[in-house]
Amino acid sequence: YRAKATGKNRWVEFRPELLEEEIARLQVIEDLQQAPAEAFVVHYQPIVDLQSAEPGAVGAPIVGLEALVRWRRDRGGAVEPLVGPDEFIGLAERSGTVIGIGDSVLRQVARDASQIQEHAGRRLDLMVNVSPVQLRHPDFTERVAAAVRQTAASGCRLHLEMTESVMIDDDTVDRLRDLAETGAQLTIDDFGTGFSSLGYLRHRPFSSFKIDRSFVRDIATEPTARALVEGMVKMGQALGLTIVAEGVEHVEQARILREMGCQLAQGHLYCRPLAVDEIADVLDAPVTPQLSA
Ligand code: C2E
Ligand code: MG
Ligand code: MG
Ligand code: MG
Repeated sequence: YRAKATGKNRWVEFRPELLEEEIARLQVIEDLQQAPAEAFVVHYQPIVDLQSAEPGAVGAPIVGLEALVRWRRDRGGAVEPLVGPDEFIGLAERSGTVIGIGDSVLRQVARDASQIQEHAGRRLDLMVNVSPVQLRHPDFTERVAAAVRQTAASGCRLHLEMTESVMIDDDTVDRLRDLAETGAQLTIDDFGTGFSSLGYLRHRPFSSFKIDRSFVRDIATEPTARALVEGMVKMGQALGLTIVAEGVEHVEQARILREMGCQLAQGHLYCRPLAVDEIADVLDAPVTPQLSA
């Protein structure tokens, strides 16, 4: 097998596993196309308020939940573990099925809002991840508007999380204003990992950003990561944006973030993503416990 792309007179070994991987990907795409809406299950992970935690106290109050999709993939056999989004969202984007999956997630979150509100007993922010492919779809704004209304009727507030990559496309940037007009709050996800210029923050209707967990992971051990996170927190404060730290796993990280003035945090330290019935139990408690130190 001669691989032209690698240049003249270069030979690349034929590797059967590459073919197998491509076949597996095509099978995922086909299974996604066949999957009914109910095959996509939404789990929720709490977002806590670092600043209103009592100093030295064990937990922090929950102010929001991030909706994270999982796939109950049916391959005819025994019940399998839920498939995580990193294994299928990319392929769903490539094949367009992310539109249907995204709709199903929005509808589930809007439906779950009343149960969530009942258990929390207060207004919570519900954060939904959206793909750039969804943003480009002509009906998206209307679907968001419906979800915003239903969520608000249940006493919760809908946020849409999107990565900086959406800022590359001028057409989708134009649509952000329409989205904001529905009453949805807009959040930048994985902040700091994109290559876009920060200029977009001047005029785009964002209310918050989430510092990517790759930075948070190293704040207690690496001065550079700590300086970067501190810079992001200061910038967010100067712009009047709410800052969420993702992937907080250790008490020390939470302590540093709190001292920096970072408002909100999310991570395994507080709680893993849970099914809606399990999250209801967590919401009954006034604060989330810290699970590990
Ligand atoms: P994300 O939006 O950045 O979500 C955070 C991811 O970090 C989640 O992974 C969550 O389970 C994980 N996480 C939370 N706390 C910790 C922690 O302390 N340590 C570590 N190591 N990980 C933590 P998950 O659920 O596998 O989702 C992965 C990505 O898939 C999400 O990243 C998001 O980009 C995408 N995604 C999830 N749900 C949806 C959806 O409904 N629609 C779309 N388009 N994308 C989704
Ligand atoms: Mg997210
Ligand atoms: Mg993220
Ligand atoms: Mg991510």
